[in-house]
Amino acid sequence: MVQVEAGVHLVTGRNTNWVIVREGDAVTLVDTGYPRDRELLLASLDAVGAAPSSVAAVLITHAHSDHIGSAEFLRAEHGVPVLAHRAEVPHARRDFLHQISVGRVLANGLRPGVLPWAVHALRSGGTRETPVAEPREFPSPGPLDVPGRPVPVHTPGHTDGHCAYHLPHTGILITGDALVCAHPTSPLHGPQLLPDMFHHDRARALASLATLEELDADVLLPGHGPVHRGAVRAAVRHAREQAGPAAPAR
Ligand SMILES: [Zn+2]
Ligand SMILES: [Zn+2]
Repeated sequence: MVQVEAGVHLVTGRNTNWVIVREGDAVTLVDTGYPRDRELLLASLDAVGAAPSSVAAVLITHAHSDHIGSAEFLRAEHGVPVLAHRAEVPHARRDFLHQISVGRVLANGLRPGVLPWAVHALRSGGTRETPVAEPREFPSPGPLDVPGRPVPVHTPGHTDGHCAYHLPHTGILITGDALVCAHPTSPLHGPQLLPDMFHHDRARALASLATLEELDADVLLPGHGPVHRGAVRAAVRHAREQAGPAAPAR
């Protein structure tokens, strides 16, 4: 758990991150880890002095199981609204699933790091279904009326409704899986796209980097990997270079 700025914490669970933004007695929670991260998640809230019931909203970057593992728990047990982009709402409900299949993982199983990651993901509840019964779309465009006043930034590709969240006052950008800083299945260092197999639409994910680089941000809080300090424009350039002009199909 890293305090990034006063009131803003990046927490790393079982390979996946969530962010707590505290303002007074209330907090905004961005993502919720794997299903089996629940105890860690509750402990992280407790560490910043927040009860689950003082979570003003769960904002989800996207509805993969390593990000929404406890969203329904907080909604159903503590009345916390769960907000997502309109295009991600049906994904969060599991009207459909855009997540890498076990078969596709196995097809990539000879790549370095993939099998250990897959075993870890299974143990973390990665294949357990945790749909959100009543996810809500953002009430209006622009900043959300919750602690930190985060601004959702639609960055489709990893999933159709993926959103980053920008905190303009602090220069913080929560990038989710649109731009990560490390992953157990990746040999790369620093800001990067996830390996191709994880994206619903990789070309669109690559194109969404252009949306991120327009933002005024110099602290990146990714869905996977450590905090990255440096201008988002340079981080995006780095990720594009790593991705190559036309990465081979995998
Ligand atoms: Zn994801
Ligand atoms: Zn993820």
